[in-house]
Amino acid sequence: MPTHDVIIVGGGHNGLTCAAYLARAGAKVLVLERRHVLGGACTTEEVWPGCKVSTAAYVNSLLRPQVIRELELKKYGFEMLPRNPSSFTPFPDGRSLLLGPDAKLTYEEISKFSAKDAEALPKYEAMLLRVAEFIEPLLDETPPDPFAGRIGDLWKLAKIGWQFRKLGKDAAKAVEILTGAARPILDRWFESEQLKVTLATDAIIGAFASPSMPGTAYVLFHHVMGECDGARGVWGYVRGGMGGISKALADSARAHGAEIQTNAPVARLIVRDGHVGGVVLEDGTQLFAPMVASNADANVTFLKLTDPKELPADFVSAIKTIDYNSASLKINVHVSELPTTTPSTASRRGPPSSNARSRPSWTIRSPRRGRTSSRCSCSTPRTSCGPARGTTAATRSPTAASR
Ligand SMILES: Cc1cc2nc3c(=O)[nH]c(=O)nc-3n(C[C@H](O)[C@H](O)[C@H](O)COP(=O)(O)OP(=O)(O)OC[C@H]3O[C@@H](n4cnc5c(N)ncnc54)[C@H](O)[C@@H]3O)c2cc1C
Repeated sequence: MPTHDVIIVGGGHNGLTCAAYLARAGAKVLVLERRHVLGGACTTEEVWPGCKVSTAAYVNSLLRPQVIRELELKKYGFEMLPRNPSSFTPFPDGRSLLLGPDAKLTYEEISKFSAKDAEALPKYEAMLLRVAEFIEPLLDETPPDPFAGRIGDLWKLAKIGWQFRKLGKDAAKAVEILTGAARPILDRWFESEQLKVTLATDAIIGAFASPSMPGTAYVLFHHVMGECDGARGVWGYVRGGMGGISKALADSARAHGAEIQTNAPVARLIVRDGHVGGVVLEDGTQLFAPMVASNADANVTFLKLTDPKELPADFVSAIKTIDYNSASLKINVHVSELPTTTPSTASRRGPPSSNARSRPSWTIRSPRRGRTSSRCSCSTPRTSCGPARGTTAATRSPTAASR
């Protein structure tokens, strides 16, 4: 007998968002999370006694404003803290580049390396924002299926085409941004290596790619999308760490009746006659519902939790072609004081120096596969323990990757 309308496998922030919307729509929802904490990669954990860190994701911008509004996340404690400054890049010659939302400061900082680049940056950002205004609304749309033959899909496609035409002379730039490499774009706009390497970090973050590879321009670009408390393209920290998002989502879902269980790993989906009917937990408990949504990735959902024999062969082979190679790792470091590397001891591979509160990031080389983009959150007791107050500077080395 079904006990719920929908079972959701996984309590990552997407599973919790799904739960909150379904619960608000009146569905009886059960979320099953295998870990002891909610949030998946969007979580805050007490890694050291009394010290909480965002163990994976650490900055936010792309949580859509309508999700914040519709799920009343502020009522459930969600709060953004804008990043100011947003990045600090130290160089081996002792110079550094500080960037942030303060236009005057940014202008002066870039002028240290190139007056031309200081003039060019606002124009470059304005161009990206024009393209973002076209792309961003698409994030909230179900993609049209041009092969479905449905009038609604064709209408949607026509609307997208019309919006694209409105980009005018920016249309070619939009195509390059969506499909091209970051490096030629940065080379065209700027002359100083210091600014280019700082901006290029946004192009390779989490991507198994160098800035010269097609596709990296989009990674660069997606950092100007989103907003922080109404400020467009600004990334921010979340009070209480990224788990603050997941907690607000979970509380919003619970307030509308959703049940959320942790330490509840799902071993497999129950599928009969081509229809899902529930799940079996690793301890053998069976739970029934006519609908199951999975927050686990497609590989886990369709090849591990489901018997692939229950699925169409072409669908299974399509799932098998998804490339899960990743170049991402993150190290959380708790230090007694901020790094104070001086130019004479700094090296391109060592931690960058900072006299500000900092979250350094630097690139390391993976022994087997070449370049690895690494995120290293380095926090002092002042910045990471207790309730998060104020902002923290993101620090990038010349070859760093930091979002
Ligand atoms: C190191 C790192 C840093 C990042 N930094 C940022 C950042 O700063 N900003 C940003 O916007 N994005 C960042 N990202 C990306 C972002 O965190 C992820 O895209 C996002 O968290 C994915 O959310 P999700 O809910 O879809 O999946 P996940 O977070 O992966 O959640 C899936 C959940 O399902 C659970 N689950 C899986 N299998 C089962 C099972 N069998 N039974 C029960 N539960 C199961 C998992 O435990 C997990 O809780 C980062 C990612 C990483 C890895």
